[in-house]
Amino acid sequence: MKRAWTMMAMLPWAGAAAAQDAASEATRTAQAELAARLPLDDPQDFANAARGKIAEIKDGLIVAKDGKVIWDRRAYDFLNGTAAPDTVNPSLWRQARLNAIHGLFEVVPDKIWQLRGYDLSVMTVIRGKTGWIVVDPLLSEEAAAAAWKLFADTVEAKSGKRPIKAILFSHSHSDHFGGVGGIVTPEQVAKEKIRIIAPHGFSEEATSENVLAGGAMSRRALYMFGSILPPGPKGQVDTGLGPRLSAGTIGYMEPTETVPATGATLTIDGLEFDVMDAGGTEAPAEMVLYIPAYKALHTTEVVTHNLHNILTLRGAQVRDALRWSKVIDAMLLKWGGEAEVALGSHHWPTWGADNVKALLTDQRDAYRYVHDRTLFLANRGATLHELADQTPEAPVQGRNFSTRGYYGTLNHNMKATYQRYFGWWDGNPANLNPLPPEQSAAKYVALAGGADRLLAAGQAAIAAGDYRWAAELLNKLVFAEPDNAAGREALASAYDQLGYQAESGAWRNYYLAAAATLRGTEIDTVSGNGQSRSFISAIPTPVFFDALATRFDAAKGKALAGTFQFVLPDSKEAVAVVVEGGVEFPRYGVTDPAPVATITVDRATLDDVMLGQAQFPALLQSGAIQIEGDRAAFLSWFALHPPADPRFNVVVP
Ligand SMILES: [Zn+2]
Repeated sequence: MKRAWTMMAMLPWAGAAAAQDAASEATRTAQAELAARLPLDDPQDFANAARGKIAEIKDGLIVAKDGKVIWDRRAYDFLNGTAAPDTVNPSLWRQARLNAIHGLFEVVPDKIWQLRGYDLSVMTVIRGKTGWIVVDPLLSEEAAAAAWKLFADTVEAKSGKRPIKAILFSHSHSDHFGGVGGIVTPEQVAKEKIRIIAPHGFSEEATSENVLAGGAMSRRALYMFGSILPPGPKGQVDTGLGPRLSAGTIGYMEPTETVPATGATLTIDGLEFDVMDAGGTEAPAEMVLYIPAYKALHTTEVVTHNLHNILTLRGAQVRDALRWSKVIDAMLLKWGGEAEVALGSHHWPTWGADNVKALLTDQRDAYRYVHDRTLFLANRGATLHELADQTPEAPVQGRNFSTRGYYGTLNHNMKATYQRYFGWWDGNPANLNPLPPEQSAAKYVALAGGADRLLAAGQAAIAAGDYRWAAELLNKLVFAEPDNAAGREALASAYDQLGYQAESGAWRNYYLAAAATLRGTEIDTVSGNGQSRSFISAIPTPVFFDALATRFDAAKGKALAGTFQFVLPDSKEAVAVVVEGGVEFPRYGVTDPAPVATITVDRATLDDVMLGQAQFPALLQSGAIQIEGDRAAFLSWFALHPPADPRFNVVVP
């Protein structure tokens, strides 16, 4: 995992017109078998996804003021075909076509609207007594602004302009708050006393969850969301949860109030909301909402039209399938039978009290099945990589599409649940401390009788349609001989077929993006999103310094000892960074009596540095950073925090 990405472009396979494979006979058979046993032509979801449509953004094209394309659905016109191409799992194809239906939709006549298909997530607008209440203003400011304009140009143009009175952030993931700056400004929030309401623990989770491990998560997210793949029948079609990520600016605003763990009944702009805490399900801080007056249940991201992730492929802390199922059951007990419509922050609504009950029941059972089957088997000796092959689909998955693995899968959710209880190790000492992949791969190649023989075995597995085994074998070859062009191509072929067959958008994207990397056709991007000052400045200072410590080069800095005292005048904070034995320990709120150096710098200036808008030499020259004590020691210590490589290798050594 250490070869610099820039090397890759110079290697022989890079840029070679390596075409992706067609769907194999085995893949076509697998697609046909799945299509034959699922009611793929059930029209109900399509009717729900199109119901109440008022308007749409032409071509689904959103362009920022500076000309940057934030969202473009034109490249997805291939999804208009009703029959799945043989390179796309027919069930995922159905989901992708549903997620592609975009526009402004009336959910409850003249009371609740949704803007769907303009980001990974969905924005909801609710009529209050005097103004609008918005739930989850998308991932990026530009996408949210374009969605709001569509609402203003249609609903407001007809029934009159009204102010935004409140914004609800349903949970701590950025696709539910990052676009807030696109619909209101901080000045507006202060002046017009706009309420921003979030679940307890929101601020800490929203600004910290992805900071310490953000580098690796971002890199893996490019594979999982397919951001390094072109759209197409052999490329990115959907994520399962929504079409893809918008490519704009991710911002942040601090909530003005939070909902306690006990839940609450809130009156927001004259409208009553019954709020239930759902923290520790899909996100550490989350809530669901019921509006009695409209008999509408907003399930946020706790109930969606797919089996969600117990552990996302980009990496995250593992979630709790048991708690998840219990929260859904609590929703069912409290509102089941009364709620006439369920709407979420992804996907389309479900209308009719019986249908809402069925949705909640089936979703509850899907997560409970993940949890209980894992422990049923684990308590009889099954381990991480045995669980899924021993577990058939949940009965409910054969009849309710909303429980199918379009995003999370039964397979990796069971592994995640195993991890939650038992950790990464399966209990077998052969797996306790194996050789690193590159070392063991070289020995496997030698054992196989050389690269050509291993390649032949991999190709034979591909010919037999045994792609999982082919991937295991050929991955050894690529890790032993990363320059072996035939080995790379064969491994890419195995990944092609695994991707084509995958029902999960995340699995498909990951396999096909891996194949693109092997062929040198990966789209070179770090991320389509820019982090804004509002987001960076919201990161708590202790987290900021903990993140800095994760960048400390312990090998080069092992002889350093002493304390660097930071004083942040604008935020009135102090942090003493103790350095010793290759470890850097930030003590928040502590002032050291005898530091090596005292560094006085505004927190806002540190944010500039993080945003890449300021450099140290200039800041020292201008006096924006002042150093008392051993200036040289500070500078040489600070130089030992190299940024992580945002393009590190994932699927090759
Ligand atoms: Zn989301």
